[in-house]
Amino acid sequence: MSAKNTPNLDSVASLKADGSRNFLRPSMPKGRFATARRLSAYVLIGIYILLPWIQINGHPAIFFDLFHRRFHLFGWTFAAQDLFLAFFLVSGLGFILFFVTSIFGRIWCGWTCPHTVFLEHVYRRIERLIEGPVGEQKRLDRMSWSESEKQFKRGLKHVLFALISVIISHLFVAYFISIPELYQWMTHSPTEHWSGFVFIFVMSGLLYFNFAWFREQLCLAICPYGRLQSALIDDDSIVIGYDEIRGEPRGRPSKEGVGDCIDCKQCISVCPTGIDIRQGLQMECVGCSNCIDACDDVMSKLKRPSGLIRYDSMNGFKGKKRRILRPRVFVYFFFMLLGLTVMSYAFSMVKPAYMLVTRMRGAPFYQKDDLLRNQYNVRIINKTTEEQTFALRIESDQKDLEKRGFETPVIVKPMEETMLPLIVLKNLESFDAPFKFRVILSLQEEELELSREIHFLGPQLKDPNQELKFER
Ligand code: SF4
Ligand code: SF4
Repeated sequence: MSAKNTPNLDSVASLKADGSRNFLRPSMPKGRFATARRLSAYVLIGIYILLPWIQINGHPAIFFDLFHRRFHLFGWTFAAQDLFLAFFLVSGLGFILFFVTSIFGRIWCGWTCPHTVFLEHVYRRIERLIEGPVGEQKRLDRMSWSESEKQFKRGLKHVLFALISVIISHLFVAYFISIPELYQWMTHSPTEHWSGFVFIFVMSGLLYFNFAWFREQLCLAICPYGRLQSALIDDDSIVIGYDEIRGEPRGRPSKEGVGDCIDCKQCISVCPTGIDIRQGLQMECVGCSNCIDACDDVMSKLKRPSGLIRYDSMNGFKGKKRRILRPRVFVYFFFMLLGLTVMSYAFSMVKPAYMLVTRMRGAPFYQKDDLLRNQYNVRIINKTTEEQTFALRIESDQKDLEKRGFETPVIVKPMEETMLPLIVLKNLESFDAPFKFRVILSLQEEELELSREIHFLGPQLKDPNQELKFER
């Protein structure tokens, strides 16, 4: 890399001077972090592939069952009515990310982000396997498309990229429709599931576009987390940086009075976003640790200590004392604990059944002879994986209140729901104002009662000052 092409803080490495795309071709370093990241990536990819296959309580470990509006998370089952829990889950996870970022910087981006994991450990590996190391890839770039070698290698690479994108999309969809249903889709005509087919087609196309061409642009131009991190970290957060005190002034190792950096630019050549970490912490750094491995390799060849580029805090790089415990960390820790506590509480409050009582369409009440009638629909959802028997009764301080319907227990199959009418009667004689009564649903197996307060409505009020309130 010539000095002219060295990245600087006034330009974006992935753009040429004329604004066109400079397609980056980072080399792959060898080293302890590269090995650890590769292993962690394979574990993460393995988890992604296996989760829809692993059965817990008769359902995939993670299954967002869109058709039946059920969500299965590691043996817990939630109905669509429990969707509000997603708020607590997402905010709880968000606070964990804030806390981790305040201590370890962009460790998420470099080690666990699906974009990094698939790009670095699947797509780029295939690219290197077919096209060879970076020098060979650049030679292919310069080669004319009329050359059969380029046609074959680039063609094969893009076919494999498209295939992998299709596989990732299918696996993603399996989280929402299950593996057996996915198999049905795959073995039947797309006309039988047009919406699913279009979704997979579009998603595969987007993945292919992203991993074949867009690549680091997603981190630089779209992902908000890179920008957010500058608000989350401070000079004591652990980041990947360059030890300027030790490295500068840079120069040939044989030269007198120079620092440890020999200006070999290996750290730039491995950087997936094309930056020069020696110019300080930059938004483009995704914390991948490639530059650490590259520089450690150079240092070991020079028989100098490793760590010229390393994980450290900005204060550490300046030779100041590193502080892990600081107000920011305590604040994020507090919010993380709060988020986790509220999340755990919200999850623990989930009931194995759900009851909804709604007034039937039509008049709010009917009057026949000396009887007043209110009509409701009672929707019962069995959220357990076993058949449940439900009994329903009404409770009120109105002595002559009677119900029709639910005379016998109602059986609801596992994870299914039923809707039945409930008619409540009262003597017109004894009615003087709308009143409330309770509908109580009991589950025999679970020893649980669900209760709803309902209004009984009737004709004009005897007391005109009585306020009439309607509920659903
Ligand atoms: S790899 Fe190390 S020695 Fe080489 S330029 Fe980068 S910081 Fe300097
Ligand atoms: S500067 Fe280093 S850690 Fe940051 S993205 Fe580039 S290679 Fe990865």
